[in-house]
Amino acid sequence: MTTAFVVRGSSRYHADAACQALDSARLNTGGTVLQITANSSTHTPCLVCVEVDRTEWTLTPANLAELWELIGPSKPHYAAMNGRTEVDGLTIWAHNGMPRTVARFGDTITRHTDGTWTVQAATEVRS
Ligand SMILES: [Zn+2]
Repeated sequence: MTTAFVVRGSSRYHADAACQALDSARLNTGGTVLQITANSSTHTPCLVCVEVDRTEWTLTPANLAELWELIGPSKPHYAAMNGRTEVDGLTIWAHNGMPRTVARFGDTITRHTDGTWTVQAATEVRS
């Protein structure tokens, strides 16, 4: 039987107990990690586990929470829209001498092998 790892209250599962996204989630929930049977109808793989070799993600409202979880030094970015203050992206904190960067929805976030993150604005993405 194949097992996967789930943080209580999350709908995502991790195929590997060493998943980067799971490490951070484990800290946030006080160390409670459940082991479940893979292919559960109630859980889907996290964005790292679904494609382990992937290093680029396009930021969307759907994956914001997972990328926030995955990218250690980050938090939601807010902007005034339609007369209200709403989340429009993710602020990635300064690390390893790099400046603080804001990724807005549609921008591409890249994880590098040295553990740093860079953001390519949607308008700069080559087609
Ligand atoms: Zn995972």
